[in-house]
Amino acid sequence: MYYNEVCGLKLSALGMGNMRLPQKAGKIDYEKAQEIIDLAYESGINYYDTAFRYHSGESEIFIGKALAKYPRESWYLASKLPGHQMHYENGKLGFHGYLSDFQVEKISDIFEMQLEKCGVDYFDFYLLHNLSETSIDFYMNPEVGVVDYLKKQKELGRIRHLGFSSHGSAETIDRFLNAYDCFEFCQIQLNYLDWTLQDAASKYDVITKHGLAVWVMEPVRGGKLAIVDPTTKKEMEARRPGESPARWAFRFLQSLPNAKMILSGMTTLDQLKDNLRTFAYRDAVNEDECAFLLEAAEKLKNLVPCTACRYCTEDCPMSLPIPEIFALYNTKVGDPSFDLKAAFSSFEPEKLPSNCIACGACARICPQRIRIPDMMAMIAEQI
Ligand code: SF4
Ligand code: SF4
Repeated sequence: MYYNEVCGLKLSALGMGNMRLPQKAGKIDYEKAQEIIDLAYESGINYYDTAFRYHSGESEIFIGKALAKYPRESWYLASKLPGHQMHYENGKLGFHGYLSDFQVEKISDIFEMQLEKCGVDYFDFYLLHNLSETSIDFYMNPEVGVVDYLKKQKELGRIRHLGFSSHGSAETIDRFLNAYDCFEFCQIQLNYLDWTLQDAASKYDVITKHGLAVWVMEPVRGGKLAIVDPTTKKEMEARRPGESPARWAFRFLQSLPNAKMILSGMTTLDQLKDNLRTFAYRDAVNEDECAFLLEAAEKLKNLVPCTACRYCTEDCPMSLPIPEIFALYNTKVGDPSFDLKAAFSSFEPEKLPSNCIACGACARICPQRIRIPDMMAMIAEQI
């Protein structure tokens, strides 16, 4: 494992994301997930990222327990405030989406709960979750006082480093950073496809311009960049025999000097082992390889940009398996001979996209801004 000096610390270049832990019967499989954390820790990964909502709230509890057997100063824990799912109306805080029954009076209620769930008395890193065009006003509302409250917690030593994640535009990030100078890092979706597709290049530049470090999420875009089209695969093989498409995606990120933390949500030991090999040393792509990857990305732009984060499935009143539906559709886009109808015939009838009632709950929460109800109707027509 190689390390980056950032925020006055030596952080492993690869961080462990805790949004895609192995599951059993819809819950985190503690035994398998603990094996992953143990190997990650023993292999030198010292950064562990979670959030209030990951695994419907179970991720924070799991990771706190999983790390508790190791000395507290030997690992760094990051969690996030779910302000992107909150609103402030008539002097009251409220949640929307699947958390709408959840009641809190003050921001401190959430923060205290998170410390307790994780079993810690401070967070090494604490982020505002998904600063975007729809959440920025909440985060900046002086009556709610989110940033002031977090700055106070930092003074008290209950937060060591403050940051935020964002699926917003470069302009939104710039607006926020022009207003506050207390943040040290910003976590964005960054990979060779989103470099142009979601203009991650501009976000990277604006964050760097403000003097913050870039944290990377979705480095292989929820696995999409781990499987590439046959032509790209052949070209990859010719250039670097035996190198996996996922490793190419990570090497693209290793070429960005301000990408100080690369988070990967690893579900299996094999994924972790593969990533550990990639992060044994820095092996950045050269200019020519970078141009090749950006050209390869063009072919992926017709796919539905779903990262399988599953935020939408929690809010869907029809319990539709939205990411699985998009995965099948993407297979068809990549391979016109794929029989979409036959693939969907294995679905239970109530899980088919034709059951979508176009309520729009999913589209409101989707960080990729996919027009999910329209897509469901379009796919339903094809099967
Ligand atoms: S629009 Fe369709 S897919 Fe989206 S939440 Fe509503 S029913 Fe589910
Ligand atoms: S459709 Fe959007 S919210 Fe749903 S899993 Fe995909 S990226 Fe996540």
